[in-house]
Formats: sequence, structure tokens, C-alpha cells
Amino acid sequence: MADRTVLMIPGPIELDADVLGALAQPQRGHMDGAFAKAFGRALGHAREVFLAPSAQPFVVAGSGTLAMEIATANLIDPGERAVVVNTGYFGDRMRAILERQGARVDEVRAPLGEVPDLGALERALAGAPAKLVTVTHVDTSTGVRAPVQEVAGIAREHGALTVVDGVCSVGGEELRQDAWGLDVALTASQKALGAPPGLALVMAGPRALAARRAKKVPVPSLYLDFLEWLPIMESYEKGAPQYFATPATNLVLALDVSLGQLCAEGMDARFARHARQAAAFRAACNALGLSMLPARDAIAANTLSAFYYPSGVDAALVGRVRAEGIIMAGGLHPDAKAKYFRVGHMGVMTAADILAAVGALERALAASGHRFEVGVGLTAAQRQLSQG
Ligand code: PMP
Repeated sequence: MADRTVLMIPGPIELDADVLGALAQPQRGHMDGAFAKAFGRALGHAREVFLAPSAQPFVVAGSGTLAMEIATANLIDPGERAVVVNTGYFGDRMRAILERQGARVDEVRAPLGEVPDLGALERALAGAPAKLVTVTHVDTSTGVRAPVQEVAGIAREHGALTVVDGVCSVGGEELRQDAWGLDVALTASQKALGAPPGLALVMAGPRALAARRAKKVPVPSLYLDFLEWLPIMESYEKGAPQYFATPATNLVLALDVSLGQLCAEGMDARFARHARQAAAFRAACNALGLSMLPARDAIAANTLSAFYYPSGVDAALVGRVRAEGIIMAGGLHPDAKAKYFRVGHMGVMTAADILAAVGALERALAASGHRFEVGVGLTAAQRQLSQG
């Protein structure tokens, strides 16, 4: 029998058939009129997805890490101070990027599974001025959702710009870039946006573009520079091709389809669906006697879940779940890597996928010697999903 599995790692994710179909079109050139129209539509839809009509979208070939580098390289000059709100692995990466760019970096760190202390952020910004504050909305290594709106409010009060790494959140978690005053929000194509890996999306608000224009030192790389891409993005958004560096045409066509699907679903409906499905998965794991890595439900992400292996069970569980048809991921945070697993439930995932994942997890836990009443996880998930 063919190997039929469901990919439920925290990205890349399962793709809709129409998104995959977009990849199978005959190759188009980047100056092709139909391609330019599709790119323009995707850029317009990006504004809707980030709830950021006032921000300028940049969509360039590369991964989420490139999006992080673009965001920071355009805002910081060497020697300027940045405060990284660090909730895990990708906060560490943001710090490394900023240091490579010559920033002086201070951190507000959260203990494993916790959100950062906003009082500590206040103090860090009151003590000395900072050019920018970065925060990872959902740190994929912990499944914790940080209070982005509050962080941005504090940053603004202290005259700092806010950069939000939304790689594991945008398209699944509530994020309102304009309303929350986020100067830059960024993501990549392969997570809750429901497209293949390979595109970096950066939304720069008016203050971020002004900060780029006011930079004293040129952006060290042409490819990272907002101002190189700005006329290109403006032109494509109007449906007219213009060349700076060859866009990943096939991926852009796929992104056009996926973002169209997000907008058709509607962002509020999409946030609610992700919240419902995540709550069902968490309810199942609780019923199975597993402990969650995030300290409490209110800060647990809706795009992925992270649970500790129960006593007597180790990382072999992930392989057993795989044999039952669901692909989950092991741990990532350096402090607890071997102790927990992660499950992505974003994008096209449905209630049926959640139940399939819980069923596979139950069978794998039973095979691993964990004791529980078979079916309790499924019942808990079903109960939650039936609440509408
Ligand atoms: N930030 C977060 C929150 C992520 O989850 C990831 C990828 N897992 C990245 C940044 C980096 O993205 P990429 O792997 O596409 O470079």
C-alpha cells in the first residue's frame, strides 16, 4: 500500500490541491502579464492576511530566516541597541542576526514554557533607549504565544520600533498589524499561509519605511534592502512586471492561490478555526495524561502544540506515531529537546485531521506502554470539536 501520511509538523504543512496545482502550470517568465497579475493579487492579499492595509508588502525568494534578516537589516545601524524578547530557539536566532548586523543586543528572556515579563521589558527600555524591540509571536520551539500587542505598546511608548517574527503564527493566530501598531511583521510561505517553503514575506509599516530612509549606514546587502525592492513590489502590486532579482515565479503562483483561500475563509473565521482545533488537540492530550510545555492554556499557541512525553516514554513515540500515519516532530528547544514532541495543526487541517492525529497518538502511546483508557483522548477532542 502506498505510504499515506498526514504531515503535521510545525511547517512545512499539508498543501491544498489547488495550491499544488498552481505549481504544475507551464513555466512562466517573471515579466509575463498573467504572472504579474497573480503576484499583484498575492501582494494585495498579504495586506488582508496581516490586517495591515497601511503596510508595504515585500515577498522575496528565501525562507523565514531571510525575512528576519530583511526586517532587521533595514532598521538597525551598527552600534544601535535592540531588545530581543526571547521565548526560545527563534529568539536566539533573532539575537544572532542582530549581533551579526552590529547591533548591541539586550534580551528579556522568558523561562521555558512561559511568556516574557512585560515589567522587565518596561525596565529594559526605560533604562536606555533602543531602536527596536523584536518578539517571536509563536516560538515554534515551545508552542508559547507571546503577548505581541502588549509588547508593541510598550515599545512604542519608549520610542522603539517593533519587529514581530510571525513565521509560526501569521495566517493562524490573531495578528492585527495595523491595529496593534506593529512596525514590521514577517513570515514565510510554508506554515499557516499554506504554501510550499521558499518565500519570505515582510510587511513594513510607515514608521519602518521611514526608519529605513533615515538609516545612516547603507543596508549591507543589496538583496536585503527595502529600497531596492520597493519599486518592484509597487509595480507588481499594480499588475505590471519590473525586474530587480528574479522572483520565484512558481512559488508566487502557489502563494497567490493560498492567500486567496485565506481571504475567502476570512481572517476572523480562520483564527477561530485554529483556536477550536488547537483546543481539541490540547483537550485530548490532557485526557491522555500528558503535560503541556506552555505553562497554561491561555498562552498555548493555536498553530502548534508541544507536550512532554509521559514517564516511561521517549522520542521513539514520534516514530510510532509516524507508523500510524501521522508525521509529528520531536523537541527543538535546547533545554528540553529530548523530552517533548510538537504537533502542527495549521492551514488546511480539519477536525477530521485532528481526530486522526489523536487516534494515531493514542495507538502509539499504548504501544509505548503508557497507561490510559483507550478512547479518552478521542472523546475529549470530539467533545471540544462538537461545541461548534
Ligand atoms: N521563526 C520562527 C518562529 C520559525 O518557526 C521559523 C522556522 N521554523 C523561523 C523563524 C525560520 O524560518 P525558516 O526555517 O523558514 O528559515
